[in-house]
Amino acid sequence: MKKLLLFLPLLLFTTITAYAQQDTMLIHQRAILIDTHNDVLSNEQINHLDIGKLQTEGQLDLVRAKAGGLDGQVFSIWCGPEYGKGTAFRYANREIDSLYALINRYPDKIVLVRNSSELLKAVADKKFAALIGVEGGHMIEDRMDYIDSLHNRGMCYLTLTWNNSTSWATSAYEERFKHDSLKFHGLTDYGRQIVHHLNDLGVMIDLSHPSEQTFYDVLATTNKPVIASHSCAYALNPHQRNLKDAQLKALAKNGGVVFVNFYSGFVDSTYAKKAAVFRHKHKAQLDSLINIYHDEDLANDRLYALYRAESNEVRPPLSLLIKHIDYIAKLIGVDHVGIGSDFDGAESYPQGMDDVTDYPKITAALLRLGYSEKDIDKILGGNFIRVLKANTGK
Ligand SMILES: [Zn+2]
Repeated sequence: MKKLLLFLPLLLFTTITAYAQQDTMLIHQRAILIDTHNDVLSNEQINHLDIGKLQTEGQLDLVRAKAGGLDGQVFSIWCGPEYGKGTAFRYANREIDSLYALINRYPDKIVLVRNSSELLKAVADKKFAALIGVEGGHMIEDRMDYIDSLHNRGMCYLTLTWNNSTSWATSAYEERFKHDSLKFHGLTDYGRQIVHHLNDLGVMIDLSHPSEQTFYDVLATTNKPVIASHSCAYALNPHQRNLKDAQLKALAKNGGVVFVNFYSGFVDSTYAKKAAVFRHKHKAQLDSLINIYHDEDLANDRLYALYRAESNEVRPPLSLLIKHIDYIAKLIGVDHVGIGSDFDGAESYPQGMDDVTDYPKITAALLRLGYSEKDIDKILGGNFIRVLKANTGK
């Protein structure tokens, strides 16, 4: 009896923890989870992984998506600034082709959706909802008919710039590093016409990469709620890709949503320095990996994988990622924050955030912070569905 009494608290604790875990998974699986940014398609051009099947590389495939409670994904269509007039639009279409091929290969598992009602139908049909986000205005090559064409193929958002400015909108990167050589700042008249055209078509405007001036110029122009598909809070990490408090408040006033990025470099202000030390230490190997892959990002990924224990030390704690979500929710309201991981697009994510199977950890952390099930529904997908509907009208 005495022995039993001694074990009783431990028994109770174990039972409560098990129940809590069950509840978390129940709440997590019941919620619709949509991630607004993943780069697997751009990588697929290089590594040819079939994400319809379970993979040991990368962060997303349809098998792991199910385990992580991920109901839909905005696939990022991206090419670098080395693609310009005559090549960028074509490259974007090649990536869309590869998504279409995936959908054709697994028609029972995945379906293209263009609006919120199609998204909800996909979830009801237990099919993975695939959406298309075009990350970089250079892919429209200054042509309105290219916007129409990408919209026809399913583009649900256009990130007005990537790190490179376009002839009609400046980027956060260039405002920061090439400020004096820029011919203009923000949005031009043609840029304003593009915003109107996107509004008319019901394509969401993504302000994750554009400059602060472009950000405000768009808010003064758009008649629909905008998004930042993969950015964090500048107050927690002053990086040009993150949004300042005033920007976050303006975004909320517009009815928009910021989807929090998981990349260690946007989450943690100390990451860049620590990562540079790590890369410097293994410089010779990194250089030879760049020679093999002809792609610095991929080479970085490989280096991090080769030195897993060491690179783990460089990663921020998961709590810091949660802090960004919590900070934004407290500043502008739980209706204006969501998830835009940037999985498959960066070399490092917070500890414990290794792939799409780790999303339940976010739900667990938010529950511990006192967020209600209703709040969590909004953060995981409800806010995305609302803003998509506000743009497409259905
Ligand atoms: Zn990006």
